[in-house]
Amino acid sequence: MDLTSLQQHCRGDMAQPGDPDYLTMVTGNLWNQLLPERCPDLVVRVKDEQDVIAVLRYAREQGLKVVVRGGGHHWCQPTLRRGGILIDLASLNQVLHIDAAACTAIVQPVVSNRDLLAALQPHGLAFPSGHCPQVKISGYLLGGGMAWNQGVWGAGTESVEAMEIITAAGEKVLASREQHADLFWAARGAGPGFFGVVIAFHLKLYPLPASILGSTYCFPLSQAGAVGDWISELAPTLRPSVELTLFLLQAPPPLQAAASADGGVVLMVSAVAFADSDDDGKHQLAPLDQPVVPPLSREVATSLSFPTLFELSGSLWPEGHRSRVENRYSTASAGDQIRAAAGFMAAAPSPTTLVFFTVFTGQVVGHDPNNTSYSMNGQVYGGPSTMWLNPADDAANIEWHEACTAALRAYTRGSYIGETDFVRRPASAVEAYLPRCWSRLADLRTVHDPGRLFFDLFEALGPG
Ligand SMILES: Cc1cc2nc3c(=O)[nH]c(=O)nc-3n(C[C@H](O)[C@H](O)[C@H](O)COP(=O)(O)OP(=O)(O)OC[C@H]3O[C@@H](n4cnc5c(N)ncnc54)[C@H](O)[C@@H]3O)c2cc1C
Repeated sequence: MDLTSLQQHCRGDMAQPGDPDYLTMVTGNLWNQLLPERCPDLVVRVKDEQDVIAVLRYAREQGLKVVVRGGGHHWCQPTLRRGGILIDLASLNQVLHIDAAACTAIVQPVVSNRDLLAALQPHGLAFPSGHCPQVKISGYLLGGGMAWNQGVWGAGTESVEAMEIITAAGEKVLASREQHADLFWAARGAGPGFFGVVIAFHLKLYPLPASILGSTYCFPLSQAGAVGDWISELAPTLRPSVELTLFLLQAPPPLQAAASADGGVVLMVSAVAFADSDDDGKHQLAPLDQPVVPPLSREVATSLSFPTLFELSGSLWPEGHRSRVENRYSTASAGDQIRAAAGFMAAAPSPTTLVFFTVFTGQVVGHDPNNTSYSMNGQVYGGPSTMWLNPADDAANIEWHEACTAALRAYTRGSYIGETDFVRRPASAVEAYLPRCWSRLADLRTVHDPGRLFFDLFEALGPG
């Protein structure tokens, strides 16, 4: 198949370097505005599975490699390679079917967290989506999926029952525990290292929690380590339905004067309880209301919903920024990690930058490596989200990010393929898996993509 014949077969739009739409098609839907110089030889915004099959055939026959883009939200931009074909799934953006009685749904990949939950809400149903409204489920579910209410519902990918996948050979398969089980295992965790194109996810749904309540406390930076120690001790005694996150960030306006000696930074403790009733939620949050040191502010058991949770997360990770992000798992106390990061935060070049630590509640149970390739875990998850607007500030922010990331590395047990920068530090991709899962993924790539049609995690990234 040559390019003319691909153009005849394909319903979607395509562009090559020099074409008027090329740059917009390649970079227009990327979240991180810190753009690398890598770019593809051809970008195709496919309309349907036949388009995907046609592009894969063209790539095979022309000896070109392929990378797939879901929503373009991965922080380190693995959908940009030097050369090859970029298959952009942006037009596959529909919730196809909801079976409320069976608590299942079939969803195309480029549906956002907010749109998915909005479609389920009228049915009284929910799904363990990611935290920010605009992020798409595509790469989120392939990477593992750090979810709302993860302590009860599990990671997002653990609630995927099947995936419709176009393989490197151009065949459509339905992968599940029963059929193509090894491909299904790989797709639940491989993330940017997956070797196929997922065109639909079959999801398991859950009843919408009757009550969602949130408590928020802000503490002075000087007390942040002590608060972190207290939270780390408290977390195992809390119900897993309490989601607990500590943020080092710029103080909200009423606290800015109080925080001025600390570069305007405070420690914010945010707890969200997913509960059967308001009373149940208040009971779950009550232990947090006896903090080890007096807070600068407290809001206790405020009524929330998924739309308000998305709004809150969206305000912490705003659109349109240049960014570097490195989140990791740790078994160390949140207090120790906060002490390591607190000095950096007081000197962060950008006011939007934050460092967060999610401290898992209840007994932390590892993901079953026989079930999903997503296999890393720890009591604490997080790290710096370095975000800024002005290109003139790139060097200062990148230097700050690297120093903060290096300081936290001593407390790192492993990483998460969805939020680690394996472009700049390839070892972090290896650290996202148990060793046997990492080598099984490599073996399965050889079985399912023997001609190496799909770029692997590290190919054609280079500096940039
Ligand atoms: C603001 C923000 C908030 C975030 N919050 C969370 C969070 O709460 N929890 C969490 O777990 N993660 C979170 N993330 C990380 C995010 O889930 C991952 O970066 C994920 O990859 C985004 O999905 P995407 O489809 O946009 O990925 P893309 O950048 O489009 O793709 C990344 C890689 O995934 C592969 N890929 C994606 N879709 C497909 C497909 N359909 N078929 C085959 N391969 C595919 C490709 O190899 C591609 O290179 C957040 C990211 C951002 C920017």
